[in-house]
Amino acid sequence: MSHRNIERAKDSASESDRDARILKQGRKLFIREYDKQLQQLQSLLTAVQMKPILEDLQQCYRIAHTLKGSAPVFGYLRIGKLAEDMVRKWEWTLAIEKQNNELLLSTSPVHESIERTVELLLELKMELDIGLTEIQMDEETDPVTGSMLRALKSRILLVDDDDALRSYLTRRLQLDDCVVDEAADVESAKRLLREHTYDLVTLDLMMYPQSGYELFDFLKEDPTLKWLPLIVLSGRDDISDKVRCFHLGADDYVTKPFQYEELAARIYGLLKRTRNFEQLAFRDPLTGVFNRRYFDLQIGLELQRIERYPAPISLVFIDIDSFKNVNDTYGHHVGDLVLQGLAHLMQVNLRSTDLLARFGGEEFVIALPNTTVDQARSIMQDVLDKVRVKPVAQNEGQTFSITFSAGVAEWQAGITIAEWVAKADDAMYQAKQQGKNRIVLADLEDEGAQFTKLVAHANAQLQKKKLLIVDDDPILRAILISQLEHLPIVITQVSDGEAAWQLLSDHVFDACILDGILPGLDGFTILEKLKTDTNARSKDLKVLMLSGKKKEADVAKGLLMGADDYMTKPFSLVELENRVKQLMKLD
Ligand code: GH3
Ligand code: MG
Ligand code: MG
Repeated sequence: MSHRNIERAKDSASESDRDARILKQGRKLFIREYDKQLQQLQSLLTAVQMKPILEDLQQCYRIAHTLKGSAPVFGYLRIGKLAEDMVRKWEWTLAIEKQNNELLLSTSPVHESIERTVELLLELKMELDIGLTEIQMDEETDPVTGSMLRALKSRILLVDDDDALRSYLTRRLQLDDCVVDEAADVESAKRLLREHTYDLVTLDLMMYPQSGYELFDFLKEDPTLKWLPLIVLSGRDDISDKVRCFHLGADDYVTKPFQYEELAARIYGLLKRTRNFEQLAFRDPLTGVFNRRYFDLQIGLELQRIERYPAPISLVFIDIDSFKNVNDTYGHHVGDLVLQGLAHLMQVNLRSTDLLARFGGEEFVIALPNTTVDQARSIMQDVLDKVRVKPVAQNEGQTFSITFSAGVAEWQAGITIAEWVAKADDAMYQAKQQGKNRIVLADLEDEGAQFTKLVAHANAQLQKKKLLIVDDDPILRAILISQLEHLPIVITQVSDGEAAWQLLSDHVFDACILDGILPGLDGFTILEKLKTDTNARSKDLKVLMLSGKKKEADVAKGLLMGADDYMTKPFSLVELENRVKQLMKLD
C-alpha cells in the first residue's frame, strides 16, 4: 500500500469510528426523548379517553409522526413501523376544523383510534425497555467502573475479619490493578496504616477483639490520616450504625452482601472526588503547584468569566536563570529542591485567586485575575526582590540562591490563550536578552492593531458559508449538527416554519435543510414563498428537503417546487453529509 493509501485507509477508519460514535450517541438521545414522548402520549390518551379534544387528538398525531420520522434514522425500525401504524390511526384529525368539535365526536373514528393506540403504546413501551437495556449493556461493556478503577492504580487497605470475603475482594481488586493489603483486626490495621500510605480503607464494623469503631478514633487523631477515604462494609443494615459511622467520618456505608461492581463503582467515585486524586490529576508532583493541564482548563473558564464580567487579567511567564548550572554543580537533587523552594515562595506571596502552575522544566506561569500588567509587574518585582535576598533552598547545611526572568502580558480581547502565553513567553525571552534577573512587560497592542484582529476574526466568520437547519425534531437537529459541525460552515437551527421564513427573509444563507412537515409554515409553503417572494435575501439558496413521506409524488412535488435535493427519512447521516458538501460546494 502506498503512503497515500494508508493515510486514506486511516482516514476512513477514523471517519467510520466517528460515525459509529455519533450514531450511538444519537441512539441514546433518541431513547431518552422517546421515553418522554411515550409518557406524554400516555397522559394524552388518559385525557382523551375522558374527554376528546381536537387539540389533544392532533397532538397524538404529531407525536406519532415525529417518532415515525426519527426512530428509523437511529435504526429503531420496529418503533418506526409501530409509529407509522399510529400515524394512520390519527391522520383524519388533520382534516377536522376547530369549529366542528362536536360533530367530530359523533362521526369520527375517535374511539377506534384510541383503542388501537392503547395497544400500540404497550408495544412501544416494550421497545423502550429493550432500548434502555441495550444502552445499559452497552455502558457495562464500556469501561465505566472496573477498568476505570484500574486507571487509578490505587493502594487499598481491607480491614475485615471474614477471611473468605477478604480474599475474594483482594482478588477482584487486584484484577483492577489495585495494590491491596489485608488486616483481620484493628491492631494490624493500625500497624499497616503507620507503615504505608493508602488511598482508601474499607472497614468492617463487627470484629474481634476490637470493633471497627475503634479504628475511627485512630484515624481522626492523625492529621495525615484524617482525610483518608473510608468505606464501611458492614453486615448490619441498621440505621443507627449508619448514622454513627457517617458522624464519625465515614465517606460511604455498604451493607453485605453486595455486588463487587457496586463496591468498585463506589470506590472509584470516592477516589475521584478526593484530594489525593485531584493531586494526581492536576498537581505537579515535585512542587505541589498546579500542572499545565489544570492551568489550561482553568484559564479557559477564567476567560469565559471575563467575557461576562470584563476585568483585567495578566499572565506571568517565569524561567529560572542559569538553572542548568545548579544541576551541573550541585546535582539534580539540589535542582529539585530549588524548584520546590521557588514554587513555595511564589505560592505564599500570591492571592488565593491567583493561579500558579508549573509549565515545564524550570518554567512557571501565573494567571492574576483583576490585575493590570503594571500591577502584575509590581507583584512579581516583590517576589524577585525576595528571591534575591533569601535562599530558596538548603541542603546539608548549604544554602542556594537563584534569580529568575519573567515576562508579563495582559489579556486583550480577540487573542487566543496560546497567543497570550506566547506574548508573555516572548517578554520573558526579552528579559533574558537584557541580562536576566528582571521583569519585562509585553508590548501593549495599540487599539488599532487589536481592532484589526477583531475585524479579521469577524471576517473569517463572515466568509464561511452559512447553513440553516429547519426541523421541529430537536433530536434530529442535534444529530445533524454533530454530524456537520466539523465542516467549515456556520450553522443556524430553527424549529418552526414561521421563524425559518423570517430568517430566510432577513439573512443570506448558502443552503437550507428543510423538513417537509413543520409547525407554522410547512416546508412546501416555504419553498413556494422562496420561489415567488422577491423579499427573500438568499437568491442562490440551495435547499435539501427532508421528509418522512416516502411517496414519489411528494419527492416530485418538492423538486418541482425548487428543492435542489430530496431525502426521505430514514436516511444515512454520512449520505446526508455528502449531499450537504455537494450543495454547498465544500471539498
Ligand atoms: P537560562 O538562564 O537561559 O534560562 O538558562 P538555564 O540553564 O536556566 O536554561 P536551560 O533551558 O538551558 O536549562 C534548564 C534546565 O532545567 C535543564 C534541565 O535539565 C533542568 N530541569 C528541567 N526539569 C527539571 C527538574 O524537574 N528537576 C531538575 N533538577 N532539573 C530540571
Ligand atoms: Mg527554560
Ligand atoms: Mg532557565
